[in-house]
Amino acid sequence: MSKCTLPEENVRPRSLSEFIGQEDLRANLDVFIRAAKEREKSLDHTLFYGNPGLGKTTLARIMASELGVNMVSTSGPVMERSGDLAAILTNLERGDILFIDEIHRMPATVEEVLYPAMEDFQIDLVIGSGPGARTVKLDLEPFTLVGATTRLGLLTSPLRDRFGCIFRIEFYTPPELGQIVERSARILEVEIDAGGALAIGSRARGTPRIANRLLRRVRDYALVHGDGRITQELAESSLERLEVDQYGLDNMDRKILSLMVENFNGGPVGLKTIAAACAEEVRTIEDIYEPYLIQCGFLKRTPRGRVATAKAYQHLKLRMDEDQHSLLG
Ligand code: ADP
Repeated sequence: MSKCTLPEENVRPRSLSEFIGQEDLRANLDVFIRAAKEREKSLDHTLFYGNPGLGKTTLARIMASELGVNMVSTSGPVMERSGDLAAILTNLERGDILFIDEIHRMPATVEEVLYPAMEDFQIDLVIGSGPGARTVKLDLEPFTLVGATTRLGLLTSPLRDRFGCIFRIEFYTPPELGQIVERSARILEVEIDAGGALAIGSRARGTPRIANRLLRRVRDYALVHGDGRITQELAESSLERLEVDQYGLDNMDRKILSLMVENFNGGPVGLKTIAAACAEEVRTIEDIYEPYLIQCGFLKRTPRGRVATAKAYQHLKLRMDEDQHSLLG
């Protein structure tokens, strides 16, 4: 098998020095990791929040490898009963990292098990049922919980308050994404020039996972329509064919904006209505599409609903009427 077909894992940075962008976060994390090593104590519980594909899982893995400990991964929605989490916690070894993805989607009964575990490295186990049931306290090995969430606001405050460090992961700039593409291309053994990498980075919606995905698609075009080398021209024409425009918007983004403009006069329109009109889940629109459209300045949140901005009209090459101008004021 050629290296080109290897999955996402191979391009995942393995150390903080390989991790591109997020300078402040990286510097802070570096200090915490060094301090934990020096004190020979487990690291404070850490929460990463930000859009999907920005590097939350990658950072958790890097923390584990820099600390030289194991990482056990799970996610909020897969733990249905408190016993599921208790089983994981009791199997952790000293200093291990427990990574819980989508931690905001953990059922309340499971979350309650986490409180004493995070605070005192203890859990209360209920043995038996009915009137004969009794509770025993069980000591756990000290561990570090690393939580990841796309929605900080959905975390309950008792859970949020138990994290010692909370880091927000921002969208990446096009040059940072260009660097990420160049690095991934080296690993995948794809020839790319700086212009090609920047062209892909500029259309990757600020997201490394998307940059890597576009790189793979453009590589296919380069192999079929060119000599395998990715230049700026080839990257731009391939992305055009993939219907990714110069802002990185794809068909779904454009569908959301044009629906708002054409069917709802640009808004204000509620998220549920947008989701129903696009036949997409509210959560997907809210977590994946909307943050980037807001970041690019195509969409605004107002108390009465979402509004398409003048920039969205320009991008879709549609005319905005007077009412819309006054609404955006
Ligand atoms: P999340 O957990 O936030 O959804 P991941 O950590 O799984 O995102 O990252 C998605 C992919 O993007 C990873 O496979 C990794 O290759 C790449 N990636 C993320 N952040 C970076 C970065 N800062 N530098 C290089 N590659 C990155």
